Amino acid sequence: MVFARGVRKSYGPLEVLKGIDATVPAGSVACIIGPSGSGKSTFLRCINHLEQLSGGILLVDGEFVGYDLRDGKLYEVKNSLLCKRRADIGMVFQSFNLFSHMTVMENLIEAPLRVRGMPVGEARAKAEILLARVGLSDKAARYPRELSGGQQQRVAIARALAMNPKVLLFDEPTSALDPELVGEVLQVMRDLAASGMTMVVVTHEIGFAREVGDQLIFMDQGVIVERGVPREMIANPQSPRTREFLSRVL
Ligand code: ATP
Ligand code: MG
Repeated sequence: MVFARGVRKSYGPLEVLKGIDATVPAGSVACIIGPSGSGKSTFLRCINHLEQLSGGILLVDGEFVGYDLRDGKLYEVKNSLLCKRRADIGMVFQSFNLFSHMTVMENLIEAPLRVRGMPVGEARAKAEILLARVGLSDKAARYPRELSGGQQQRVAIARALAMNPKVLLFDEPTSALDPELVGEVLQVMRDLAASGMTMVVVTHEIGFAREVGDQLIFMDQGVIVERGVPREMIANPQSPRTREFLSRVL
């Protein structure tokens, strides 16, 4: 589960997150929507400590990621401990970010071998299961450039799953895809949600949020303006800002 309280992030004088509270229970899906620049990506990056917090606390499965609590104070840790905890948090980006010089199979086994020290046979066996799960068993020997965008993104999801993450973070995973390829990626995400994966998904796919999300969070200018059950919030937004945003994306 993800537990955020009063999360703040500033870049110099620019306050990007102004006190974010959010709870994503284990096995549930939180979808985050909001205008460009509202801090959605920054919040995701705070969850796995790609960004240092300026304030507040963030726990994943009850543990700090990148911090330790000593004598009532939080200290940043920059050692293998952080690496270990971050390895439990998968992230899928808009731009796939596969290793372009590696085959699909090599992409999938890289982190399990290097970070987890998994035996190569085991890592390959697991990768094959994951490739089957995302419908790409026949692509193990291909390079990313030989795949469509939708296939690359499904490989990226399989690669994240190869680390047995406790939480998967998605930052607009379908925004870079041609419209006809969006569906296959959303279907993989839908299956993942049904399998009980804890997911935080920044997306403009309101239909996906309505159908798959357990909660919907609307961010604007570094704050959470409104949150609720997706179906209810989409049908009947309470805040004028939410209403205005939804009217533009629906
Ligand atoms: P989008 O929908 O366009 O992806 P977003 O909601 O994900 O937007 P963020 O990427 O979190 O927004 O950015 C929030 C604000 O923080 C923006 O004003 C951005 O310019 C600023 N910002 C993000 N990263 C940095 C950085 N490394 N240094 C300075 N400012 C940054
Ligand atoms: Mg973003």
